[in-house]
This record gives sequence, structure tokens and C-alpha cells, in this order.
Amino acid sequence: MGKHRRGSNHGPKQTAKHGVKKWYSWYFDFNLLYRILIGLVLGFILGLVFKEKILWIAPFGDLFVRLLKMIMMPIILSTLIVGASSVSPANLGKVGIRVIVFYILTSAVAVIIGLLMGTLFRPTADLSGIVEATGKEAAPPSITQTLLNIIPTSVAQVVVNESILAVIFFALVFGMGISYLRVSPHERLKKGGEVLYTFFDGIAEVMMLIIKGIMQYAPIGVLSLVAVVFASNGPKVIGSLGLVTAACFIGYAVHIILVYGGLIACYGGLSLRRYFKEAKNPFITAFVTRSSNGTLPVSMQAAQNLGIPKDIYSFSLPLGATLNMDGTAIYQGVCTVFIALSVWGRAFSIPEMGIIVVTATLASIGTAGVPGAGAIMLLLVLDGVGLPVIAGSPVAGAYAMILGIDALLDMGRTALNVTGDLSCTTVVAKKMGQLDMSKWKT
Ligand code: ASP
Repeated sequence: MGKHRRGSNHGPKQTAKHGVKKWYSWYFDFNLLYRILIGLVLGFILGLVFKEKILWIAPFGDLFVRLLKMIMMPIILSTLIVGASSVSPANLGKVGIRVIVFYILTSAVAVIIGLLMGTLFRPTADLSGIVEATGKEAAPPSITQTLLNIIPTSVAQVVVNESILAVIFFALVFGMGISYLRVSPHERLKKGGEVLYTFFDGIAEVMMLIIKGIMQYAPIGVLSLVAVVFASNGPKVIGSLGLVTAACFIGYAVHIILVYGGLIACYGGLSLRRYFKEAKNPFITAFVTRSSNGTLPVSMQAAQNLGIPKDIYSFSLPLGATLNMDGTAIYQGVCTVFIALSVWGRAFSIPEMGIIVVTATLASIGTAGVPGAGAIMLLLVLDGVGLPVIAGSPVAGAYAMILGIDALLDMGRTALNVTGDLSCTTVVAKKMGQLDMSKWKT
């Protein structure tokens, strides 16, 4: 032993593969997932017990979110370029269409589940005391504007403005350009394509390394984020909005079991146990960061562990982190029912529900994968169904109540959003015969 080992051959350094034990080694030696879970539970307890006295902890959570955001743009840009350029031009269409169809269908089903949950739980609020509250803080972007904003007016703007849809658009177009170069019959163009591909692939690998480092900080970040949410919202959650929360969370659970469970096990013929073993990491990260985009690197790691080819996941996951928001769709379904019941005193008719399914599916597509974005897009859905949020109106009062617990609802919906991306990606890879089944042997 040690005969072929490189490096120095003396002293205690050689005794442990990972070097001499330091006082903090226990932290890194302990399983990351367990560390994150402990952070989650501790944060919950600290938030509920110490309430506002624990708010000093907030910067530790902000630091985690900032680190994730820092890496978000370069990782989306580089992985999507690599993704689009590593698929042959013909294949890109096949993967893309399948993924997008799955994303849209699952979102529409999610809205229906949300509406059903709302109708079943019938959450309602007495608005007499809060009609003066103003819930209108941001105007809903129009659908046309949301769609137009996908196309950047300058490449510099893509990066500077942090407009994710625009980044995706640019990265896809650029990546497709490289993919055409790579199959060019002209040697010079082909070489250029290969150089560009290797360059962006290198960047993507560096980003993955950085994210591994950032994840070591996740348990502390998680503890802080959760403590702050429960310190500020804990008591309210137990109050009149408990039913909204229950309806949303049960809706999230139903969607996971019926839609994702159905897709993975029945449609894909895959082991649910193996799937959720990998999916729980992005699930928890999304739950605490409340950002699909921020969770992207963790989802990619899970996809890799599940044997999904890089050219599929590096294309579909960033796309899903922006377009596929099933949790947000459920939340919008429940909240519109809550507001209608509170304001009109009645639930929706079938035609009204039809309008909500269409607008909420579109709104969830237009929702950015960042904390709180779904609440802004809820304004669009309410507008579409004749419940515009006008300052001082009962609708605004009910909307303001939702905003009060939005952080908690956002945790669950974001976790669902990222699980949806991974589920669809897994099934598409399986159906295309490209899933590495050796990774599914337990
Ligand atoms: N926070 C969600 C996400 O990042 C979006 C939302 O607010 O619904 O997926």
C-alpha cells in the first residue's frame, strides 16, 4: 500500500486521505443532507421560540442566497450553451418539444388541483377589518410584455439585468449556433465550434465546482432562512390563514403523489424510491431558498446522479426553472378561490375555472424562479377572473393577507417547482431511451 501514492511519504499528513483532522472536520465529515435537515429543524425551533429576537441571524441566510444568486447567471448561461450545443440540431427539437409539452401539461393539471383544493377546503376570511389594507404593491406585467421580454434587446442587458428568460433565449440561440458549427463540413467552422464548446464546457464545470463549495455552507444558510421565516410568520400561520396553507400544502402533496409519482412510476416505469432519494436534495434546497433558479445547480447534480445525460438536463432544467412552476400554479388556484370566497362569498363556476386554468398556467410560465415572484403573478390571474387588486378594496385586503404568509407558501411551491422539472426531465430521458439505467440499481 502507498507504493504508487503520489506526494510526500512522511509525517502525519499521510495518515488520513483528507489530511489531518481539524476542529471543524466533523462538520465536513457529516452527511450534507443530514446537516441541511438539522439546520432546517433548528431554524424552525429557533424562529418559533425566539421570534424577533432571532432576526439578527438574517444576514447568514442572505449570504447563502447571495452566493446562490452569484452563481445563478453564469451557471444558466454556460450550462444552457453547453446543453444546446451538445445536442445535434435535429435532436434538439425532439427533446425541446417533449420537455415543453410536459411542462405545460403538468402546470395545467396543477392549477386544477389548486382549484379543487380551494373548493374543498373553502378557506375564507372576514374582510371587514382589513378592507383598508393595501395589497397593491406591484402592477401585473401584461402577458404580451412578459412574452416580449424574453427577447433581449442587447446581450449586455442579458447579464446585467438578470432577466432569466432573456438569458435562456440568448443561451439557446448561441448554443444552437455552436451546435451547427460543430457539424459543419468546413474544417475551420467545425474547429471553431469545438473550441467554443470546450470553452463553455470548462466554464460549466468550474461553476459546478464552485456550487459544491457553496453547498457546504447550506446548513447554516438554511438554519438562518428558516428561523427568519418562522420568527416573522409563525403565529399568523396558525391563525385564519391556516386553511389556505393547508389547502396549498395538501395540493402540493397530491401533485407530487399523483402527477410526479404517476409520471415516474407508471409512465416511466422507474423506481420511485430511487428517484426520491436523489430528488430530496433539490427539494429541500428549494424549500429553504425559495428560488428555483438558485436551486438549479443542486437539481443538476441530482439529474447527473439519476443518469440523465448532460445534453438533456443542461437544457431542460434551466428551462424548467423558469417556465415550469407547478407549485406556483397550485398556489394561484387556491388563492384565487380564497379571495373569491372572501370577497364574493361564492366559489367559481366551471367557465370561470377554465379562465383561471389558462391564465394561471400562463402566469406560472411567466413567473421568475426567485422568491416571491408567484405572488406578483397572482395579480395577473386575479385580474383575468374579474378580481382586480385595487388599493383599499376587499380584494386588496385579502391579497394582503396572502402576502403575509407568502414566504411559507413559497417554500412549498418552490420545492414542488423544482421537483416538477426533475420529474419531467427524468421521464423524457427515459422515454428517449437515454437514461443510464445502471444508476437506478440500488
Ligand atoms: N419562488 C418560486 C420559485 O422560485 C416562484 C414563486 O414565487 O412562485 O420557483
